[in-house]
Amino acid sequence: MKSITENDKDPMGNAIAEYHKKGKAAKLRVFSSQFYEDEIPVKTLFRTFNEMPIPEQMALDLCRGRVLDVGAGSGCHSLELINRGMDVMAIDISELSVEVMKERGVNAKVINFFDDTFNEKFDTILMAMNGIGIVGTIDNLPNFFARIKELLADGGQVLLDSSDIRYVFENEDGTFDINLNSGYYGEIDYSMQYRNIKGVEFDWLYIDFDTLTMYAERYGFKCEKCVNGEHYNYLAKLSF
Ligand code: SAH
Repeated sequence: MKSITENDKDPMGNAIAEYHKKGKAAKLRVFSSQFYEDEIPVKTLFRTFNEMPIPEQMALDLCRGRVLDVGAGSGCHSLELINRGMDVMAIDISELSVEVMKERGVNAKVINFFDDTFNEKFDTILMAMNGIGIVGTIDNLPNFFARIKELLADGGQVLLDSSDIRYVFENEDGTFDINLNSGYYGEIDYSMQYRNIKGVEFDWLYIDFDTLTMYAERYGFKCEKCVNGEHYNYLAKLSF
């Protein structure tokens, strides 16, 4: 289980804090042994409803009752829900991000989703921007389902978006560079850097809809697709 992020090892939290303070930020660099170096435009972490992709907009429209925004970052989804008069709590392991959310008026706390001393009940658990990524690896899915079972009120739902990243490994002739012996292809290792702040490497899971459905059913959940996105991504709803 991941510990709470220390500020000097929290590139994304520092990027969010700087953007919040100055209205602009430097490059948030993303490294992975499986991909070329990439970058997250920090501004997109502060996106408004109209700037969000369809699956995220639909997730917000489907939220009901008391909402838990997991891995909430700058709080962009929580803020939209607050504007709609909803009851929202946001959690994140980044102290810097939680501080920014508080300044923006969000009820935010530094809590690790996998910390089972946190056991309040919610009608909706929102995991946006591939929020299920925090599960890290397929092996950890049982913990994920156990946690959502604890956190969901009767009749509650989890709204999450993810992607089938198989396209990343597809060759021009339609064959795939997927090593079947090295685990599920959506298990990605990442690390980030913001200015001179380097984060530790972490596992991040992208899961295709069929695999998610198979595991969800194994752990007693119903898994429905709400909408497909434009780039192999989708919004799913889990309920039980
Ligand atoms: N949901 C936001 C941010 C996504 S980035 C958005 O859509 O813009 C993922 C966030 O999850 C980061 O802020 C990171 O600090 C947080 N996070 C990572 N692991 C977590 C965990 N185990 N529990 C809670 N938050 C976590």
